[in-house]
Amino acid sequence: MISELRDSTAHVFVDAIDTPALDEIDAHHLLRVLRVKPSDAVTVSDGRGKWCSCVVSADAGIEATSEVFTTAAPNWRLTVAFSPVKGERAEWTVQKLTEIGIDEIIVLAPTIRSVVRWDDGRSNKNIQRLRRVAREAAMQSRRTWLPVVHGATEMSTIANLFIADPTGDCLDASHRVIAVGPEGGFAPQETQNCAGLVSLGDTVLRAETAAISAAVLMSDYRRKQGQP
Ligand code: SAH
Repeated sequence: MISELRDSTAHVFVDAIDTPALDEIDAHHLLRVLRVKPSDAVTVSDGRGKWCSCVVSADAGIEATSEVFTTAAPNWRLTVAFSPVKGERAEWTVQKLTEIGIDEIIVLAPTIRSVVRWDDGRSNKNIQRLRRVAREAAMQSRRTWLPVVHGATEMSTIANLFIADPTGDCLDASHRVIAVGPEGGFAPQETQNCAGLVSLGDTVLRAETAAISAAVLMSDYRRKQGQP
């Protein structure tokens, strides 16, 4: 972890790293909620690996105080797909997957046993909300690569998809795209054409716990890849 990012008072995403500017919501968050002072170090990122240190003035002007650095893209991308779960657990899941470092978060189109079904109108609104949650979580966890949140996607269109199932193989570095089922699990016909089944342990996990477990295990394999 880069210490300037870890130690900054706030981390924020901007459209253009060479001419950083705060949008209204971020300006309000930094100045009114976090009460950032002109003497505080803030980091900004374009969400595509580039970042720099900055200071923010009382009128929300932002000025770079370092060169622009680039963090390398991850060795490989990690994807977690999940069925929308009840209440606020979808937001919670996206927040945690983002903190852990997942690159692609896919909301599955309704599966056979889905209890929660986002209809079209609501689905768009819900996905926009999940994208905001991901952006805020990425600020909190000092990411320099923003995750992509995909709206309602049919499982059959996802390449190299492994399905989380207690009867599956133990997870290893070959598992990079994992789908977690709804509360009632996947129906047998939904798991037939996937790349394989992957187990996350010997207990039956709730859907959101399974998504987090898949994320932690996959990202641990990826981290170790960079070590001797
Ligand atoms: N009664 C359902 C429980 C579903 S739990 C069933 O037996 O399938 C929701 C989802 O979490 C499951 O569809 C599965 O994808 C995932 N899951 C739960 N526990 C798991 C485990 N130990 N290993 C892998 N996936 C698990």
